Amino acid sequence: MKKEEPKIAPTPLSILKTQFGYEAFRLDQDEIIQTVLDRMDAFVLMPTGGGKSLCYQIPALIFEGVTVVVSPLIALMKDQVDALRMNGIAAAYLNSSLDFDEQDEVVARLCRGELKLLYVAPEKLFASGGAFLGVLREIGVSLFAIDEAHCISQWGHDFRPEYFHLARLKKEFPEVPVVALTATADHLTQADILEKLGLKDPRVFVSSFNRANIHYFVVPKQDSYERLVEYLHKHKGEMGILYTLSRKSTETLAARLSADGFSAKPYHAGLDKGVKDKHQELFQKDKIQIIVATIAFGMGINKSNVRFVVHMDLPKNLESYYQETGRAGRDGVRSEALLFYGSGDVMKLKRFASVEGNPDQTRIMLRKLGQMADFCEIRTCRRKHLLNYFGEETPDTCASCDVCLTEYETYDATVTAQKAISAVVRLEEHYGLSYVVDFLRGSKSEKIKEEHKEIKTYGVGADISKEEWIRSIKELVGMGYLRQAGDQYPLLALTGKSLAVLKGETKVAMVKPLATAKIETKEEPYEEELFEELKSLRMELSLKEEVPAYVIFSDATLLELATYLPLSLDDMQRISGFGEVKTARYGETFLACIVKYCSEHALETKISEKISSGRPRAREKTKPVINETKAETLRLFREGKTVTEIATARDLTVSTIENHLASFLALKEVEITDLVPQEKIVVIQKALSKNGYLPLKYLKDTLGDDYTYGEIRAVIEAAKQGILQ
Ligand code: ADP
Ligand code: ZN
Repeated sequence: MKKEEPKIAPTPLSILKTQFGYEAFRLDQDEIIQTVLDRMDAFVLMPTGGGKSLCYQIPALIFEGVTVVVSPLIALMKDQVDALRMNGIAAAYLNSSLDFDEQDEVVARLCRGELKLLYVAPEKLFASGGAFLGVLREIGVSLFAIDEAHCISQWGHDFRPEYFHLARLKKEFPEVPVVALTATADHLTQADILEKLGLKDPRVFVSSFNRANIHYFVVPKQDSYERLVEYLHKHKGEMGILYTLSRKSTETLAARLSADGFSAKPYHAGLDKGVKDKHQELFQKDKIQIIVATIAFGMGINKSNVRFVVHMDLPKNLESYYQETGRAGRDGVRSEALLFYGSGDVMKLKRFASVEGNPDQTRIMLRKLGQMADFCEIRTCRRKHLLNYFGEETPDTCASCDVCLTEYETYDATVTAQKAISAVVRLEEHYGLSYVVDFLRGSKSEKIKEEHKEIKTYGVGADISKEEWIRSIKELVGMGYLRQAGDQYPLLALTGKSLAVLKGETKVAMVKPLATAKIETKEEPYEEELFEELKSLRMELSLKEEVPAYVIFSDATLLELATYLPLSLDDMQRISGFGEVKTARYGETFLACIVKYCSEHALETKISEKISSGRPRAREKTKPVINETKAETLRLFREGKTVTEIATARDLTVSTIENHLASFLALKEVEITDLVPQEKIVVIQKALSKNGYLPLKYLKDTLGDDYTYGEIRAVIEAAKQGILQ
């Protein structure tokens, strides 16, 4: 029975539900929104697809007056505004793509107080000698949101001079809160953004960079074209980006794929602007399936339904890999990142990595390249590897990368190890990994010295592939049976443990895959045919209304429809993405399609199976849970055992134990001084107040080796809990 509800002021959550049609906040959204509503400045670092927009859109709807959103991406403003209008929100944009009359019209609406959100290009804000700022001052701005805030920093990779003037905002509007948002800012850039914008005691929010809906796969670069085609056949009707190293190969690959019946277009910085824009638009509007691109592609695109990103060649560092794969799955739907890896690419990229006349820069580039290769070669969970690289602690397995999905068996690798160690001995520790591997495999190359070809060990490992040798030797290094000495051109050398292996006194175990991971993993079952029908319905509407398809509904929404089969408008409102306005506008149309499909296929609704916010999206914030394993750690700690002793006793890592203990800070079960010596607390606190809550890795780099991750984390946790002064 529905009662007449008294009119109450909207809350962020009620707006999320009614206007946007979503069930729950993600990541730090609620806290950020609250901070903004308290009229405090904020800095938000959140991964692509994390949901930055709602952090200012919801306050905009609660505040009186207008929220001004500054964005450099002119091409995207219209889509963003269209998307808001679809949800019944009064929004407009002002940039050079509008003619004078249209601009006047927007300003007139602004002055009449008709707008809740205004998107502007930075240069427009300061145009006409500040006249526009005068208008804003008169009508009253409730909030400034600076999107892509890293563009203000010369330390970032995308500095834009127009952004420079934004430094004036805080001076001209000291009482208006500013929220700065970005998905990419390292330590330096971050500090620079806060300073340039002159934010006042900003609260800094750094979200986890885990993209839970992206599944990571690395496969050998053999017959890669054939494997790609096979992959694309399994992904019919899905949109994807293929990255290649050279401009030329984008064109040849796109042509070859087109000849094989796929709709693919190339994109690289050398193409005419007209051609580039055209191809980008075709992709943006779902009119082609595949874009084959160099890294030039991606900055300005905001396509939420990219289902896969394939790297045909090795990216040059993990930063690029993360950013490029991050273009998949912005809508939260399961997506894939596939990388073809061959050690030949490392050689090729090494040549590009050297920066003439700058040995320091060269060394950094080479080290980053080496880390990229390690990511592909070492058999640890790819997600863990990636996030640890960015300073985040993670569980050891993710169940959604090729390593975690492959079953391994342990085998006796003593003979392999002996061959490798003996090669290092025979070569007198004078050579690097690739020479040793070529030597072991009996390469006929001229690079191998003639006298080395005479040695007995030459060619004893010809039965093992190059990639497998590289992997094995890296594992031996990891296990401490060999070491790599030197930075730029590391040489393989012996360790204290090498000889025992050679003499047969120590056995070496390694793992190998039992069967290779299937790239396909089973998803929740949904009606595939219906999903296709809903997509074409959306396409029809998008053509009619001249907006991109995802502005109407995201793939995530259509997938929920095809999974839970709502058969009434009430049920439909439980689907993520159906706010009041969109339900009124499109509900009947989509409902008719589902009802028809269900009656033809004798299907019943499954809406009762939908648990709150539906499918898992980006990782939700974890609440402190005290489980038994943590309690056990606490018990041992109270008995007076040290962290290391507990770790050994429980066969867990030190960092796990430290995490356990940190979680007791909030409950006042342990004191921060139990975990970190007072003098260190002070230093860490100082670093924190200077830098804000940056990714751990940066703080660790700043503080140096005397400070462990555990100590830093504990102090951060204590600071968050307000336990520190
Ligand atoms: P970002 O700007 O951080 O890359 P967006 O703000 O574009 O991300 O959000 C990505 C997608 O996620 C959008 O389709 C958005 O509507 C959706 N989204 C954002 N917050 C939520 C939420 N709390 N629940 C469900 N979907 C959300
Ligand atoms: Zn994994």
